Amino acid sequence: MTRRVLVLNAGSSSLKYRLLDGVSGVAEASGSVERIGEDSGTLTHSVGEQDHTEERRVADFEDALRSALGAFDRHGPPIDQDSLAAVGHRVVHGGDLFAEPVLVDDRLLDTVEDLVPLAPLHNPANLEGLRVAQRLFPDVPQVAVFDTAFHQTMPERAYTYAVPASWREEHRIRRYGFHGTSYAFVSRRAAELLGRAVEDTNLVVLHLGNGASAAAVRGGRSVDTSMGFTPLEGLVMGTRSGDVDPAIHGHLHRELGWSLDEIDRALYRESGLLGLSGANDFREVTRRRAVGDEAATLAFDVYAYRVRKYVGAYYAALGALDAVVLTGGVGQHSAELRAAALGGLERLGIVLDPARNEARATDARAVSADGSDVAVLVVPTDEEWEIARQALEVVEA
Ligand code: AMP
Repeated sequence: MTRRVLVLNAGSSSLKYRLLDGVSGVAEASGSVERIGEDSGTLTHSVGEQDHTEERRVADFEDALRSALGAFDRHGPPIDQDSLAAVGHRVVHGGDLFAEPVLVDDRLLDTVEDLVPLAPLHNPANLEGLRVAQRLFPDVPQVAVFDTAFHQTMPERAYTYAVPASWREEHRIRRYGFHGTSYAFVSRRAAELLGRAVEDTNLVVLHLGNGASAAAVRGGRSVDTSMGFTPLEGLVMGTRSGDVDPAIHGHLHRELGWSLDEIDRALYRESGLLGLSGANDFREVTRRRAVGDEAATLAFDVYAYRVRKYVGAYYAALGALDAVVLTGGVGQHSAELRAAALGGLERLGIVLDPARNEARATDARAVSADGSDVAVLVVPTDEEWEIARQALEVVEA
C-alpha cells in the first residue's frame, strides 16, 4: 500500500503543502500559495533542488489548491488520487473534543465549525482547506490532525483557570495548548536520542519559533503547557506578548477608551519582540543586541528570562527531569538564547557544554556536558512529517 501523504496547512491567507512518505518522512515536493484573496498572490513549488515561482491572483482556497495541483502537473511529481494514502490536514483547534487525529466526514466538519468561536482566525481557514480538499480529492481519505490534541492529557488542575463555574462550563474557558503536533514529534525524537522508550522520559520541551510555547511531557503525554485558551499566553513571541496581567485590558479600556479588539490586536500583533525592540525576528534582535542596541538587549533578556522561568516551573511540575529539549527556529539555532535561558542551572543538574552549544549543526543533538544529570537536546521539529505519520496511522487502523 502507498505511504504517500499530501499534507495541507491552510492559514488565514496562505496554503502550505508537502507531499511526503509518511513513514520515512522523505518529501517529494513542497510549496506554498501566499496572499490568497489579495490582488496578487505567489505560488512557490519546490521539487528536489528546484524552486518554481509564479505570481498571479489567487481568488480563494479552491483556486489555491488547484494552482498547487497545476504546479504538480507541470513540474512533477505526478499526484493522482490512486497514488495517495491520505490527505493530512493541520487543524488548529479541536477544543476538548479531539485527543486523536480523525477521519474527516460531514459530522467532523460540523464539529470543527462549532469550534470556530474558540479559534476565529484559524479554524475557518482550516475548515475551508478540508472542504476544498474533499471536493478535489473525493476518493482519498482526509485526516484532521489537531494542534490541541496532544495536550488533552493535561490534568484538570493544569488546564483549569480559577474563574467562575459558568465561564468554565458554559463557555469552554480553559487551557487548551497548541503546537501539539510539534511536541509529539520532538518528544519521540528526544526519547530516541536518550536511548529510551518515550514512556520512560520526563521532558521539558521548548518550541521557540515565531510562535513560542513550552510543555511539560511525562511519558510522552503532555501534563502542562504554556499556551492556554488561545496561543497568546505564555512565552514572549515574535509579535505576541505572552503572559500579561489580565487587568491591563480593563485599565487601557477605562483610561484610554481603547476597544477590546484594539487591545487584543496590540497584544497579538504589536507586542512580543516587536513591541520591545521594533523587530519581530529573533535573528534581527540578536544582531541589534550585538551592536549594543538597548531595546534589543531588553527584548532578548525578557524573552530568555521568561523561558527560564517556565523551565523551572515545569521541572517542579514533573518532579524529575531527563532532558530539556529545544526546537523551532530560535531553539534550534540560537546558542545565545540557550545559554541565557539555561546557563547557571548546575544546581538543578542542567549543565550546558559551551563548545557543543555553539557548534553550528542542523541535526538532532545533545548540547549538554557529558556529566549533566539533565540532558539538553536540540531537536529539529517536523510538523508535516508528524501529520503524515498520524494520517497514515488513521487510514491503516
Ligand atoms: P520558526 O517559526 O520555527 O521558523 O522560527 C522563526 C524564528 O526563528 C524567527 O524569529 C527567526 O529569527 C528565528 N531564527 C531562525 N534562524 C535563527 C538563527 N540562526 N539565530 C537566531 N534565531 C533564528
